[in-house]
Amino acid sequence: MDRPPMQRARVFCVANQKGGVGKTTTTVNLAAGLARVGQRVLLVDLDPQGNATMGSGVDKRSLSLSIYDVLLETATIVEARQRSEVGGYDVLGANRELAGAEVELVGLERRDQRLRQALEPVADEYDIVVIDCPPSLSLLTLNGLCSAHGVIVPMQCEYFALEGLTDLVNTIRQVHANLNPELQIIGLLRVMYDPRITLQQQVSEQLKGHFGDKVFDAVIPRNVRLAEAPSYGQPGVVFDPASKGAQAYLEFAREMVARVKQLA
Ligand code: ADP
Ligand code: MG
Repeated sequence: MDRPPMQRARVFCVANQKGGVGKTTTTVNLAAGLARVGQRVLLVDLDPQGNATMGSGVDKRSLSLSIYDVLLETATIVEARQRSEVGGYDVLGANRELAGAEVELVGLERRDQRLRQALEPVADEYDIVVIDCPPSLSLLTLNGLCSAHGVIVPMQCEYFALEGLTDLVNTIRQVHANLNPELQIIGLLRVMYDPRITLQQQVSEQLKGHFGDKVFDAVIPRNVRLAEAPSYGQPGVVFDPASKGAQAYLEFAREMVARVKQLA
């Protein structure tokens, strides 16, 4: 494979403080899509719900070590990571235990830099790290943003879509200014898109008007196969590679590889 020696991983957060907007689906399918096009990928699950872990075929209930231990520095990523055999990437898994980390971290030093520091020793082993953030702008999300080069924002083309972005964009600005000067919005990803709905077309156009090149070309359609895949412990791109949803995520993965090259 033609990659320069010692290329260090590029780190991306999938974030949006709203729940149910497609963060986890995007994280899992991007990880699997990137693996399919030859990238070495680590998926980090920063959500105590552990949906990205389960959707990668890793049982969150049987994790002996997880991201919780990594954030509290009682384990390293090398010790805590699992392999998603079905997805072809590594997983730093999460489960309910992680909900407690939020409280336990508050009093500790470097509380927002824990993930960044933990990733440091494995950065040479991966091309891309994808982080699934919880639906909040919490200390966990802050750890993600402090680790990342870029943020991927999945969004539905609904009426209040742009307004919903304000808090996230402000948080990203603040983190950029105070904690992580590398951080930028890599792009907005339109998900669960239905082109037959006029309103969605309009909001999509609005988004492009507002954010221009920051809107990814790839568009993820509403596709039931993507919603079914997690119950089989598989990313959609593996579960039904021919489905429209899987094809769109593969296209998105290729687009990400191209954007990463531009960053380098
Ligand atoms: P979040 O992580 O932001 O809470 P999820 O990725 O869990 O969002 O998605 C919320 C729900 O929508 C899940 O049930 C998921 O299966 C479903 N879903 C996500 N993307 C799609 C899509 N493109 N088509 C159909 N269903 C989707
Ligand atoms: Mg989620």
